[in-house]
Amino acid sequence: MGFSGVIGQEEVIRSLENDMKYGRIGHAYVFSGTAGIGKKTVAGIFAGMLICNAADISDPCGVCQACRLFISGANPDFRLIKAEGTSIGGDEIREIQGSVAIRPMYSKRKVYIIEDADNMTVQAQNCLLKTLEEPPSYVVLILTASNYESLLETIRSRARRISFKKNTNAQVRQVIAEKYGNDARGIEFAAAYADGIIGTALDLIETEEFIGLREKTFELVNRIKNSGLADIFSTFSFFEDNRDDYNVILDMMAMFYRDMLVAGETENEKILINSDKRDIIFNNARKYSPQQLVADIEQIEAARRAIKQNANFQLAVEQMLIKLREE
Ligand SMILES: [Zn+2]
Repeated sequence: MGFSGVIGQEEVIRSLENDMKYGRIGHAYVFSGTAGIGKKTVAGIFAGMLICNAADISDPCGVCQACRLFISGANPDFRLIKAEGTSIGGDEIREIQGSVAIRPMYSKRKVYIIEDADNMTVQAQNCLLKTLEEPPSYVVLILTASNYESLLETIRSRARRISFKKNTNAQVRQVIAEKYGNDARGIEFAAAYADGIIGTALDLIETEEFIGLREKTFELVNRIKNSGLADIFSTFSFFEDNRDDYNVILDMMAMFYRDMLVAGETENEKILINSDKRDIIFNNARKYSPQQLVADIEQIEAARRAIKQNANFQLAVEQMLIKLREE
């Protein structure tokens, strides 16, 4: 796969394609941006382009010996370094130092990706600096970092920074659709929830736990209007059991109410976030006035704020549930 297969990140891709086009490949790059935004994916693709002996500006050839070895994960001219535990230490970086001195075997270049380079210890960073100061002409280092500022200034100043920005929801949706089909369960929700970060959307789609959580949240909201007070207190146990994910649950609830608001205003189901739940949403929407839905969304946000400010978890959740149930 080459740059032509990447969805979104247009600026990043244009800049790297220009480097390919004008033959001005840097010795070191830092790909910076939020976790899940696509840095590692693009770094892997860029490495494949740099390793190929016949790449154009957008795609590796896929058939030269360097490509074939790279695709099978056996090209010695490419190395991926990532943290074994929580940090990347001096030993791992010293290995690079030894390796850069040996000329490439199958490619014009030797390419190193250091994943989550912001996890390098200071010692490791200082060690890397020696390579960055006088890299052999064939070496390209690609560092990915969510936290650009934790790289030493001396490293930052020797590497070209490529900043990754959020994608649009439509682009995130497209990535999911290409991987899991247009009808993937929860696709609209995941695209909206991910807020431009593809990794977050894929995590949501791929996690059974999330799918279960979403189903249960829907059940909960679906019956809240007709429930008795006793039900409210038993509903709390759902929150208690999933306390670590309370933010996700509240997001799911807020998006359900948002969808009911939309459904009350228009018949257009295309703009629903939870389009796979359209029947439940349209049925429920009739039970509420728009003012009430706006107030309910505010209740959910109030509960979120209260919990964040260390209010009693149970009280905050129950108070919200009681308010949501009230006429
Ligand atoms: Zn090739």
